[in-house]
Amino acid sequence: MFVPLMHAEKPFEFARTPGKLPKEVVPMKYSVRFVPNIDNFTFTGSETAELSVHSSVRQLVLNALELKVIEASIDGKALPQSAMKIDEKNELFTLALPSQLAAGSHTLALTFSGKINQQGQGLFYMRYQEQGTSAKKLALGTQFEATDARRLFPCWDEPSFRARFQLTAVVPENWLAVSNMPIESEKKVSDGKEIRFAATPSMSSYLNVFVAGELDLIESRSGPTQIRVITTKGKAKLGRYALEATAQILKYYNDYFGVPYPLPKLDQVALPGGFGGAMENWGGITYYESALLFDPKNSSAETKQDIYEVLAHEMAHQWFGDLVTMAWWDNLWLNEGFASWMGTKCTAHFNPQWEVWLRRNLPRDPTRRVGIAKEQAMEGDARSTTHPIQQPIATEAEASSAFDDITYKKGQSFLRMLESFLGEDVFRDGIRRYIAAHKYSNSTTADLWNALSESSGKPIAEIAAGWTEQPGFPLVKVKREQGGKFSLTQERFTVNFKNAPPLEWKIPLTYSVIGEAPGTLLMTGKIDSLQKLQTNRALKLNVNGAGNYRVEYDEPSWSLLLQTLPELGVEDRVNLLSDAWALVQADRAPISLYFGLVEKLPSSTELAEREQIVNVLDFINRLLIGRPEREKFQAYARSILRPTFDALGWDPKVGEPATAGNLRASLINALGDLNDQEIVAGCRERLTKYLTNPQSLQPDLRPSVFAVVGRYADKETWNQLHELGLKTTSTEEKQNYYDGLAGAIDPTLVKKTLPIALTDELPTSRAVFLVAKVARDSEHPDLAWNFAKANMKALLAKTDALGANRYAPSLFTFFSDDSRANELKAHAKLNLPVTSAIDVAKAVDEIQFRSQFKKRLASQLSAWINKQKL
Ligand SMILES: [Zn+2]
Repeated sequence: MFVPLMHAEKPFEFARTPGKLPKEVVPMKYSVRFVPNIDNFTFTGSETAELSVHSSVRQLVLNALELKVIEASIDGKALPQSAMKIDEKNELFTLALPSQLAAGSHTLALTFSGKINQQGQGLFYMRYQEQGTSAKKLALGTQFEATDARRLFPCWDEPSFRARFQLTAVVPENWLAVSNMPIESEKKVSDGKEIRFAATPSMSSYLNVFVAGELDLIESRSGPTQIRVITTKGKAKLGRYALEATAQILKYYNDYFGVPYPLPKLDQVALPGGFGGAMENWGGITYYESALLFDPKNSSAETKQDIYEVLAHEMAHQWFGDLVTMAWWDNLWLNEGFASWMGTKCTAHFNPQWEVWLRRNLPRDPTRRVGIAKEQAMEGDARSTTHPIQQPIATEAEASSAFDDITYKKGQSFLRMLESFLGEDVFRDGIRRYIAAHKYSNSTTADLWNALSESSGKPIAEIAAGWTEQPGFPLVKVKREQGGKFSLTQERFTVNFKNAPPLEWKIPLTYSVIGEAPGTLLMTGKIDSLQKLQTNRALKLNVNGAGNYRVEYDEPSWSLLLQTLPELGVEDRVNLLSDAWALVQADRAPISLYFGLVEKLPSSTELAEREQIVNVLDFINRLLIGRPEREKFQAYARSILRPTFDALGWDPKVGEPATAGNLRASLINALGDLNDQEIVAGCRERLTKYLTNPQSLQPDLRPSVFAVVGRYADKETWNQLHELGLKTTSTEEKQNYYDGLAGAIDPTLVKKTLPIALTDELPTSRAVFLVAKVARDSEHPDLAWNFAKANMKALLAKTDALGANRYAPSLFTFFSDDSRANELKAHAKLNLPVTSAIDVAKAVDEIQFRSQFKKRLASQLSAWINKQKL
């Protein structure tokens, strides 16, 4: 049962905010100067921090990690070495004071030294090949979220300790340096130039940024704001698309939030390595290069869409996250769920042709944080290893592990459901109230609900509690009664989770009788009903699939829906497919429910609908590796997908919709995987032409063509792809070639691909994921795991602490034999820290689910396919 928690959370109040640091001392402004030494990857630094002491203290407690503090003084009085204590385990730096420090203003001064990391953590370096030359170069960058600002300078590194930050750095003379704020002054010094940046407004420490190297830029203005795209030398012109999109998005957000972007400039910075995603540092957003740069001649439509979406997500953070920051990591969803929702909304607004809300199936790149994969979040949320959106966070490791699908994607789904229930205008009004009330400060979820309650006059906190404070989500069962009455029952929806605690939700339901205007019902109990509806027409719940719940129809309701499919919009058809597949996974329905629906669908080239089907077929195809049923299944799966591909053809047609290119690429990939010999031959032909004339192959098709030829590669083809990968200086193209290599199913080639992860052919952050890619795509997860086991130390040196927790478990999720679950548990016991427990549990659950599902599917599939008389 769901019992409303005793108002688990209150509005933001600094003194009550969780965290390790005592709250008597608060930094107001830091001035930090550091001098990187790129010959030995170290730096030296000094800082002064203006403190406001609220009540007298005998010691100062702040954060530091892998730093050596050399000198410390308070109000100009030096403190002895014996007064300084670094606690590496708790990441704390304690300074014992000679006497009581009275309430009031004081100044702390420190000098220190630290290291420049190989992985994207704290201050880090990136090696890359310069565009248009063969020169190997090095650049510096920072990544501080969640808790790594403390690796660059000692600080109160918790989000509610807002302060102003003024950074100064010494860099080589031919370098360009970027931070949150514009450069205030620059002067020559003996070993280069010293650059002083203007002080930031009050913000959280994790939002600081510093990037420097031989950089180029393009710029424009949007109202009072200078906007720039910054890249390594030779690549600035590839930032044109991002620059234009930035101007468009900025204008939209200035209006939506009701508070204009508050800094004088906004930089979009492309990093050639270091980390995989993007980071919303205030005024200086950093991106992995291929997430920002678009080459009109060589980039795919998919890349363009991803760039827009990531920009819109990170820019939403400039308000939701930077201007107003969650008080503590237990409310991370406020940042990430909101930015995911807002970014998708903005992307859809300006690019309706991309069908962004609809395309919520599995993302192709498991390392992507930003995404609209609602279905992926719901799959995870149905398992025993899920957690509520809001969860207690005690340690740094827990803060890092909060960056998951539940935080991003369930958060986004819930906000979308709430917006569609309240209406766009009422919802936006609430957001404006919230931003106005909390700007330059912190907030909790309760603050957001209060603002939305004010704007809507509805008890939002009550509706929301079930969705953010408890795990999971509901299944609504529909039963057709007499006289236009439908009874509704809710229960918790679970997969591979016996004896799950039963829960209830307040569900903002939407429904439509096909052909009539939709209605809403707030379902507040276990049982409810819809009355006086048309008796002879189909009823569909969850209009457009905007709600975060599943629906199970009784037999008469389902048959009527099947007859009505051509009248349903594509959103509703995709929603029916997703729910049917989920019911099969949950063992609530046989596979015939899903394929029965697929076969009744009108033939179509709708991208989102076909992608849903492609994802399911791909999942089954991988699950059946080594099973005798696989060949028959592949023939059946090809018979479903091939007609759509034949309608599209290999080449774009004049006037075709924007999504046709995505769908064509997706089908080539899927049919290639399903062993369609014509497709494989077509891809080989195109690679041959491409080798002599790269422009002969459209950018949209390149990732798929390389994936298919890579999959069935012999030694010669493998070498060709490898050479292309070594030669290019585009990170996007490089990734396409290496993805092709990773898919090779010939075991001798698998053994050639894996060691590349140990070299610097790929940027550090990408190299480690090559092994996971091989585990998934090569059909030899065993070879990938053996390789990882033998080289674990070198691989983990390329990833951060969070990555280390997830690395081994992530490789196991491609297995579907129970014995592997035990192997992972044994491995974890001997080799992994306790902080990896949740990742291990998730992987074990996944292996066990796949093992059981495989057995069940194999027999059901044979029965279904035989009935189809292929
Ligand atoms: Zn984000």
